[in-house]
Amino acid sequence: MPTARNWTCPHCGRHTTITGNLVDVALHHFEIGETRHGHVGMLWHATRCPNPECNELALVVNVLPCERQSGSWQPIRDRPTLKATRLLPESAGKLQPDYIPQQLREDYYEACRIRDLSPKAAATLARRCLQGIIRDFWKIKKRRLLDEIAALKDKIDYSLWTAIDAVRKVGNIGAHMEEDVNKIVSIDPEEATKLIDLVEILFDELYVARDQRNRRLAELAALGERKQQERSTKPKTRKTIGAS
Ligand SMILES: [Zn+2]
Repeated sequence: MPTARNWTCPHCGRHTTITGNLVDVALHHFEIGETRHGHVGMLWHATRCPNPECNELALVVNVLPCERQSGSWQPIRDRPTLKATRLLPESAGKLQPDYIPQQLREDYYEACRIRDLSPKAAATLARRCLQGIIRDFWKIKKRRLLDEIAALKDKIDYSLWTAIDAVRKVGNIGAHMEEDVNKIVSIDPEEATKLIDLVEILFDELYVARDQRNRRLAELAALGERKQQERSTKPKTRKTIGAS
C-alpha cells in the first residue's frame, strides 16, 4: 500500500496529498514466456483526484521488464522501461494560468500532448514557445532564436540564464539553434522533455512570479489606503456608531 505523497493533479492542477485509498499501483506480468527483453509486464498507476470539483482519474501505464522476487513479480530497477504512456489525461501538460498569452499556452499544451508520439514536432512547438516567451516578456526580437537567447544574458538572473543555456547546448536542440524555429529537426523524447521543462520553468519564474508580486504589491497598497482612510475618518466615525 503506497504511503501519503505530494501530488499535482494533471487535470485541475491542484497540489494535494495522496493517500493509499486514492491510488492503485499494480504490476501485471504477461504470461507469455520470456521475450527478447526478458519477462515483461505492465505497471499502472491509477490516481483519483481528491479535489471534489475535479474527482478525475489520472492513469499512467508502463510496460517494463520484470522478475520474480519472493513469490511475486517486480519491476527490474536498472532496466529501461519499454514504454511509458500517460493515458489519462493524454497530455502531461500542467494547467497554465490565463495571464500567460494564449498562443504560448497552446504551443505548450500541444507540445506536451504529442511529446511521445512525435518528439520532433513537440520540440519544434517548444522552441517556438521559448521564442514567444523571449519576445513577449523581454521584448527582444531578432532573426534567430540563438541571437535572442544571447541577448538575454545580461537581462536575467544567473540561474535562469544557466538553465536556458544548458538546454541550448543539449544535443540536437543545440545543433539546430541557429535554424529558424519552425524548422523540424531530429530529436529524441528526452530532448523534447528538456525543452518542455524549460518552458514550464520560464512560465513559473516569469509570468507566475510577476503575477504573485503584482498581487502582493496591490494588497499592500490597498492596505495602506485603508489605514489612511481609517485614520482620516476616525474622529467622524465616533459620532456615527450604530448608524448602520
Ligand atoms: Zn484534479
